[in-house]
Amino acid sequence: MSVRERARAALTRARQSLTPAWAQRARSHRLEPFGAIFQMLRPRALVFTDRPYARRALGLRDEPAQWADPALDGALGAGVLSAPLEAHLQLTNRCAAGCQGCYTGASPQGAPAEWGLAEWKRALDELARCGVFHVALGGGESAALPWLGELAEHALALGIVPNLTTSGLEGLDRLLSICDRFGQINVSLDGVGDVYRAVRGFDGFAAADHALRALRARKREVGINVVVTRQNFEHLDELFAYARQQRLSEVELLRYKPAGRGARNYQQLRCTDAQHRAFFPLLARAARRHRLRLKVDCSYTPMLAHHQMAPALLHQLVVYGCTGGDFLVGAKPGGQLTACSFAAPPPALDGQRPRVDELAAYWHAPGAFAPFRDWRQAQEPCRSCKYLSLCRGGCRVVSAHTGRAIDPDPECPRVVDFRKLVNSGPADAASDGDPAAGVGAVPGRRHLPVI
Ligand code: SF4
Ligand code: SF4
Repeated sequence: MSVRERARAALTRARQSLTPAWAQRARSHRLEPFGAIFQMLRPRALVFTDRPYARRALGLRDEPAQWADPALDGALGAGVLSAPLEAHLQLTNRCAAGCQGCYTGASPQGAPAEWGLAEWKRALDELARCGVFHVALGGGESAALPWLGELAEHALALGIVPNLTTSGLEGLDRLLSICDRFGQINVSLDGVGDVYRAVRGFDGFAAADHALRALRARKREVGINVVVTRQNFEHLDELFAYARQQRLSEVELLRYKPAGRGARNYQQLRCTDAQHRAFFPLLARAARRHRLRLKVDCSYTPMLAHHQMAPALLHQLVVYGCTGGDFLVGAKPGGQLTACSFAAPPPALDGQRPRVDELAAYWHAPGAFAPFRDWRQAQEPCRSCKYLSLCRGGCRVVSAHTGRAIDPDPECPRVVDFRKLVNSGPADAASDGDPAAGVGAVPGRRHLPVI
């Protein structure tokens, strides 16, 4: 072996010794009609490529069956993916914390007929067959489940990266002993000190803080999940400073969803329109100041679009909005399949409610995941919005709470402006809401701000 080859082999060994065990076992790629999806570990990302790149990177000689249709080369977004990238599995609905905004309405009793280890293993087998990259395990409080470590090990053996969300209030000792089996562990933390109580309705900051410090002492990939409400919005900077001080690997910001107990308290806790408009400038400043990795959930895309980011750039970065039933699926504690973790199970097809351990059979069925996959039929102002193919009309869960799930997201700034305009006069209300054909054409009327 030459000196150069020995040096290269030593470098590979050194890299491997620095790579956590979960990362070494992760699925590396998946072929798609448009090309392929590759899993990058540093920085962690799923990268979408066209066919020529995938052919070179994988050294393919023969054309795979997925690439039979030449028209689909590079055509991401022409249909749905061949399978979800990620599944959010709500392993249990048992949790004693009683948070006022809990989107699953978790209780100490849990849900009726919750699945156990054998059923969830079967679900993972199906997800692996379909080509899923990640599972996000949550609850309720999944850390309290005695078989959580075995389930995570099963996911790893199948090449699926298991990530976990926990309140940090239960099951910490066991979690510390199995934390190396998870890709990322995020503790739910909506505020520092009293702000935690204002959002969650009880004082749990000290326990969550203790869990974070203990996990971070054992593992690098530890972060926080923050549900953004009007109570903690003004205090986000304190939370970012805390995350930086604890050397957390990420802060994930989630929009408040009217689901579970969250639906009851939606009017009191949801952010105001002004806060939604101020959200992205605030994040950009915070990311620079605190040098943090900030992530936002899919439902924030309308607030991103409000600041007129270049659609081509968002497309390149695969920044998508409501991809429930496409990039994402969820499952309830009894295995009922959902489009995402916040959504209710879809209507039954052929009298059968879809289950996560039968994902493949449902995925390609006509009408599957309606209305999530029906975003191309969007009404105004989404129909004329240049972000529609990325945003897909905003959050279906928020729309369903205030009207029909297929309606435009009522919290999108463009939708808010449009509705004000439409409601400002009878001529406007009579139109279908197309700003070009209707409202905008009325002489003397204010025009819809074009984004
Ligand atoms: S409904 Fe759509 S945007 Fe809302 S959380 Fe689910 S996938 Fe995300
Ligand atoms: S108008 Fe519709 S498609 Fe455009 S950003 Fe708002 S919710 Fe998304």
